[in-house]
Amino acid sequence: MNHKLRFTIIQAFTYQHNVMECPFCHKAHLIVINSRSSKGKSQIWRRRKCLSCKEVFTTHELIDLSHIVVEKKSGSAEMFSRTKLYSGIFYASQQSKIPKREMVIDAITQGIEKDIFNLKKKRLTSGELIDIVLIHLKKRHIPTFLRYLTYGKKIETEAQLRRELGTYIEI
Ligand SMILES: [Zn+2]
Repeated sequence: MNHKLRFTIIQAFTYQHNVMECPFCHKAHLIVINSRSSKGKSQIWRRRKCLSCKEVFTTHELIDLSHIVVEKKSGSAEMFSRTKLYSGIFYASQQSKIPKREMVIDAITQGIEKDIFNLKKKRLTSGELIDIVLIHLKKRHIPTFLRYLTYGKKIETEAQLRRELGTYIEI
């Protein structure tokens, strides 16, 4: 087995949550021969080849975070919602002119989802979630970052503003 082939097999098994089987012969000897993220969507497609029957097919995979529980400061908990995440960022962006706003916010949301997925955690505090959002917004759009910080962290005093800003920016 050459180095490149070994790498693709590892990649195929790392990304799979369940053992995937070939739709033609139902054996599980698959390798990924190509992959790509669809632009603006949390979707990845992979070309897979079956090592048993040599058939090639495509799979489309979505990042699914619906099993993640978000714990609020109040002690209550709710299931992660992409819609809620997207709407919060959308709301914070409204005062700014952003060309292709839906696409831009979808891409930001997708980046946040990937980070959450990579944490490999089943529970997340709302504070941790807000931090991830703010790190992404700071890189992508400062006015939206500031508005999200203001209501996400419930900022009401100058001291609080300095402290929270200092977490993300050297002041
Ligand atoms: Zn097969």
